[in-house]
Amino acid sequence: MSRTLAILKPDCVRDGNTGKILAHLEREGFEIVALRKMRLSTDQAKAFYEVHRERPFYDSLVEFMTGGPIIPLALEREDAVPHLRRVMGATNPEEAEGGTLRKLYAASIESNAIHGSDSPDNARDELRFFFSRAELIAS
Ligand code: ATP
Ligand code: MG
Repeated sequence: MSRTLAILKPDCVRDGNTGKILAHLEREGFEIVALRKMRLSTDQAKAFYEVHRERPFYDSLVEFMTGGPIIPLALEREDAVPHLRRVMGATNPEEAEGGTLRKLYAASIESNAIHGSDSPDNARDELRFFFSRAELIAS
């Protein structure tokens, strides 16, 4: 078993797609280990997306991610990181395969409904960014 971090992004929460995406993730065999609803501050969003600081979309991404509440999730399953990336689909929903979460629920390359960690090392860092050690102890 392994873990990954997902974030239901502000567009997902605003559009009322939270329940559908949580049900989809459970159908895919993910256990929800931890979950919260919160609003990121600008400094928190900048820190989370620090790797993208030099990209042209960085300021817009930070504004988008702070524009409404998000729902970070700690998810567990076999091959959690690659499996979530497959279930999410391509960053740009126009390029995402049919049946993927971004094909189903994303509006644009920026407002793309869900984040998923891209490697096991990043998953460990990102889980710690949002959740305490106590929260990450499986019940
Ligand atoms: P995420 O990290 O959210 O799981 P990803 O790994 O598929 O998505 P990244 O390249 O890490 O994509 O980009 C992080 C986020 O930045 C994207 O999910 C999207 O919200 C935004 N983004 C990426 N590329 C662009 C772009 N060209 N224009 C606008 N926003 C973008
Ligand atoms: Mg990414």
